[in-house]
Amino acid sequence: MKKFPIHLCQPDNKKSCAACCGLYNFKLNDRQHTIERLRRNTLIFFQNSQEDITKVIKHHSSLYRAKDNGAEKCFQTLFNCEFVGFIDGSERRVGCLLHPQLNNGADFRVHSFYGDRLCEEHYCLSYYYLSLQEQLLVINVVKDWYLYGLTITDIDLVKATYQVLSDKLGEGLNIDLISRSQELSSLLLRFFEFKLDWPFKALGDNRFGKYIFDSDGYREISINYKKFHRNRSPFHAFFKAYSSEFKNGFEIDEAEKLLAKLVDRFCSVYAIQNKECK
Ligand code: SF4
Ligand code: SF4
Repeated sequence: MKKFPIHLCQPDNKKSCAACCGLYNFKLNDRQHTIERLRRNTLIFFQNSQEDITKVIKHHSSLYRAKDNGAEKCFQTLFNCEFVGFIDGSERRVGCLLHPQLNNGADFRVHSFYGDRLCEEHYCLSYYYLSLQEQLLVINVVKDWYLYGLTITDIDLVKATYQVLSDKLGEGLNIDLISRSQELSSLLLRFFEFKLDWPFKALGDNRFGKYIFDSDGYREISINYKKFHRNRSPFHAFFKAYSSEFKNGFEIDEAEKLLAKLVDRFCSVYAIQNKECK
């Protein structure tokens, strides 16, 4: 990892990401179903430690590779790897079960769909498009793997959060100040947690963040402000990232109020704490 300053996949020992290995790419991608799949994959390495590992890997692929990439899948173009699992005993970090660091230096990724080189050399768009400050904004406040992977890969949401808060404050966010403050970290985290519990989130298993899936593929959701006699919201990027579906204009007003209140609260606490630091 010399190419980038921060290893977004495994930033620390509290959480990690495996989104590009297909972690969330299932119609049933809530936390519980995701945990069950991760445990299913992880267990093979513990239950079969005495057997020939190559045989075990091949057998696992024969059971789950086609299954995980069939009717249960959302994005058809992203492969769901059957070797993503929990890589620590406390189930805080997700990642590659075939990685050499987990296998006494032996690289079993050669048995994966992509092969060892592609797996080794892949860096998602967040590495390229999120600034260092934006990356730290997420890493410093999200402690949980399930939310971390959803957030660090949501470039629009992270950029919108950084921009809305910086615009309101009239200066770029001081990441150190936020990290040192429990209150600011909790307020900031709320912008990301709305991905999980947003009150205006559309129901159904054919959505993932700003995407909606149908038999032909996927498209981005749209919010029809005109129909509800509203202008495009300054929180439009948030609404999409939270997979919003509004039934009427009053719901849009409510959603805007909710986010505006959070922005105001964050900025007033920030202003006080920033002043105290100077
Ligand atoms: S989606 Fe990005 S951050 Fe997540 S595991 Fe893949 S490369 Fe790493
Ligand atoms: S083999 Fe490749 S795609 Fe599969 S979990 Fe490991 S890194 Fe991800």
